[in-house]
Amino acid sequence: MVNGDPQMKQDFYIEKGEAVEIIISVLAISFAFTIVFTGGLGTLFSLPKEFLVFMALSLVTIGSGFVLHEMGHKLVAIYFGAYARFQMWVQGLLFMLATSLLGVLFAAPGAVYIYSQHISRRQNGLISLAGPVVNLMVMLVFLGLSLIAPRHIYFSFDTSFLAPLFANGVFEVWRFGAYLNFVLCMFNMIPAFPLDGSKVFAWSKAAWFAFMLSMFVFGVGTGVISVFFAISWLVMLGLMSILSMLLFRQRR
Ligand SMILES: [Zn+2]
Repeated sequence: MVNGDPQMKQDFYIEKGEAVEIIISVLAISFAFTIVFTGGLGTLFSLPKEFLVFMALSLVTIGSGFVLHEMGHKLVAIYFGAYARFQMWVQGLLFMLATSLLGVLFAAPGAVYIYSQHISRRQNGLISLAGPVVNLMVMLVFLGLSLIAPRHIYFSFDTSFLAPLFANGVFEVWRFGAYLNFVLCMFNMIPAFPLDGSKVFAWSKAAWFAFMLSMFVFGVGTGVISVFFAISWLVMLGLMSILSMLLFRQRR
């Protein structure tokens, strides 16, 4: 199956085992998000209906953002003649579920692995950029939906910590989806290995800065960027840089 010849264009494919791993990962990431956002696993037993409704919303917003992001990498990698497959990371998935019980999200259930002998730094940068670009596209769809058909849902569990994200403190599903995809995009663009941003940065610092600057302007314009978000991103940048140096020093 390994094909490193860039001249040989292949069609997009998803293997059966891979599809199963994608489905498990999407369900797990949506479940972890639901645990955190509904205030804990206890909500599943105290307010099962609301928990399941939020789980469905998570699948539509964060689940779709996650799977389409990964498929963005895969599509461009296949375009460049590589063999690309989504691989679930069981330890990461279990770690994600464990930290979600503590109210912390560490969304790393798996990623697309790329096998090719002919991938250049530029191609690797473009493959990496494809994921965050897909999140930007998904975000635009959600922003469009929030304008055309806003969908407000009221929950009895405490959503006050979500309030700063939404206009007038009202939970609007599509705006929530847009925000989550913005977070996915910006987090993955942090230039610390093995995040996507590090490969874009290694290919072209100008491309990285141009993309980040346009996302910043776009984020401010659409109101998804807040001071809280900017500070969180800078904290994550620091943490990921330190982690990256400690764990992947030999790769730099
Ligand atoms: Zn990615």
